[in-house]
Order: sequence, then structure tokens, then C-alpha cells
Amino acid sequence: MPYISKANEYMQEAIVSNKICGDGKYTKLCNSWIKERLGSAKVMLTTSCTHATEMAALLSDIKAGDEVIMPSYTFVSTADAFVLRGAKAVFVDVRPDTMNIDEKLIENAITDRTKAIVPVHYAGVSCEMDEIMNIAGKYNLKVIEDAAQGLMSTYKGKSLGSIGDYGCFSFHETKNYSMGEGGALAIKDPSMIERAEIIREKGTNRSKFYRGQIDKYTWIDAGSSYLPADLLAAYLYAQLEVAEEINNDRLASWNYYYEALKPLRDKGFIELPFVPSYCEHNAHMFYIKAKDIEERTKLIEFLKENGAMAVFHYIPLHGSPAGKKYGEFRGEDRYTTKESERLLRLPMYHKLTKEDKDTVIDLIYRFYR
Ligand SMILES: *Cc1c(COP(=O)(O)O)cnc(C)c1O
Repeated sequence: MPYISKANEYMQEAIVSNKICGDGKYTKLCNSWIKERLGSAKVMLTTSCTHATEMAALLSDIKAGDEVIMPSYTFVSTADAFVLRGAKAVFVDVRPDTMNIDEKLIENAITDRTKAIVPVHYAGVSCEMDEIMNIAGKYNLKVIEDAAQGLMSTYKGKSLGSIGDYGCFSFHETKNYSMGEGGALAIKDPSMIERAEIIREKGTNRSKFYRGQIDKYTWIDAGSSYLPADLLAAYLYAQLEVAEEINNDRLASWNYYYEALKPLRDKGFIELPFVPSYCEHNAHMFYIKAKDIEERTKLIEFLKENGAMAVFHYIPLHGSPAGKKYGEFRGEDRYTTKESERLLRLPMYHKLTKEDKDTVIDLIYRFYR
């Protein structure tokens, strides 16, 4: 990997400087790189996307009895961050083409208790943000984008995570850019920055103290410890420096799969992902859809027998034990379960070789022959 030696160098520097705690040199470099990219008022690295979402829930004053609208086809963290505040997760069906929340079904799920909408940009492909922002404006709701998979993606020219009130990113190892475990919170409204800094620093105004704006710091709000070690930020920064290169490499692999599998799609055997013309995606994932769960299971087994790893993805939250306890599916589950059972992710990572892609593609053709 082109960034490994740089990551080594930056981490060494952090170690030698004896400042590996939070908000050091590399945390600041990452914050400003991401802020620049998004055009948000402020970006703060966090210990995870889950924690960035918890911060957004705290900043939005989500309380017991509130309702938060989100898709059921998502990672648990999307719901957890709000459930921890005592809110109920209200699940709305997805669109079968993008697997994103169906914007047309959101309004029907709103009640007097609704406080926020959480669009999840699945596979780094944007939700319909114009419609979602309009609904939020009409009902005075917060929009918290789960952009865990969305760095480097855009919607009508705007970066994902910069459109709603808050944008939450993940730098977990499974994402396009990684610090092992980590994330970031993007803030649109400058008046929310100070409180966000306090929440992230255990409810204290330590950030202000470090900037020399006050001469001692104190406990002034409820908060937690959401600040990652600078050592991890050093690792991440080496990747952000070459983000465009990594993004282009992933997109090339994505397009290669797409072109190679098109004939199989045209014959009606499989379905391929859909990216609206006004969305630029980041090739976080390449998936196909088989006919149904039986066919998908057979295909996974066939690929595995022949040395290729393909995996399914989220099992909808509303059927899980916690989903039943803390959530509710509002409206009809027309696509969430059915489509989730058909979806299969193909190997997708930076520097995926042509040989590996060809192997997977050939096997899929052999399976459907
Ligand atoms: C990865 C992911 C998360 C959680 O990210 P962490 O950094 O591991 O907390 C949340 N939502 C979605 C959609 C994700 O893909």
C-alpha cells in the first residue's frame, strides 16, 4: 500500500513527540482535511462513527420517548446511539434500487414525538437529500446523516455528511479510510461547535482551556470521552493524503465489475447496483442481487468452494431482539427484508487485482450457466 510507509513515519513522529493523546498534530490535520473536503463549519475526529452519532444525539437533545426515523436495513449503531438516550427507533422501508431509506415514506412515519431523521448512505450512494431536508424543514426535525460509508461521495455536488445538521463518519478498518477504530462528526451550524467540544471532552471546557481562552477548565455539561489518540489519527492522515488515489482505484474496480457483469444483468439473472446520475459514489461496496435467499446461499457456497469470498450484509434490525424492544417498523416491509436476502457483496478493497476480479466474475458466470 502506498500510504503504509507514510503512516509509519507519522506514527513514529507522534510516538517520539510523546504526545499520543487526543487533539494533537495529526488529529488537527485530519479535522481540517475532512472539513475542507466537506465544507462543514467544523469536523471533529471521534473514537468511532457510533460515538459521532451519540454526540449528534446529545447535541440534538434526544430524550426518552422521542422517535427517530431511520431504515431498518443498517448497522446497529444507527439505532443504538438514539436508543441509548431513551428514544425509539422508527424503521421505514428502503428503496429497492439503492437500498436507502425511501424518502417518500418518511412523512407518513412522523408523529408529535419525532425529533430526527437519520438517512444512511448505503454503499456510499446518497439518499435523496433534497426531499429529506424539505420534510425535516416542514416538521422542524434534525437530520443526522449516517455517512459511515460516505467519505468522498457527493449528492448534487455536495459532500455527504455536510448536508444535514450533523454528519457521522467511520474510520473503522472495514471502511474506505481507516484508523482501526475511529470516526468523525461534521457540524453544519457554527453555534453548535462549542457544545460539541464540551460533550467530546467529558462535559468540560478543556478545549477552550487548551486554546488559552480560559485559565482553568471545569465540568459544565453532560458528556463523554469521544476523543481518539493522536497515534491513530497519524495512521489515518497518511491515507487522507492519498484519498483521491485510493478513491480512483476503488472506482476502477467497481466499474470493472459493473461492465463485466452487465450481460448477466441484461439476461435477467442478477441485478446490479443503481447510482442516480446526480450522485458521485466512492465504491465503498460492490454488490449484486440474486433471485432470492436460496439462490444467494447456493452462490455463496459455490464461490467459497472455489476460493472466493462473497458475503451478505445487514439483517434488518426490526426482526432482532433489540430491534423489537427498542424499535418499530412503521408502514409495510415491502423491500427491506426481501431485498436484504438477495444482496451479495463481492470482494472490494483498495488494490484489488485484475486477476482476483476476473476469478470472481468467471465464477459468477459459471454459476449461472
Ligand atoms: C461502519 C458503520 C457504522 C459504525 O461505525 P463504527 O466506526 O464502527 O462505530 C455505522 N453505520 C454504518 C452504516 C456503518 O457502515
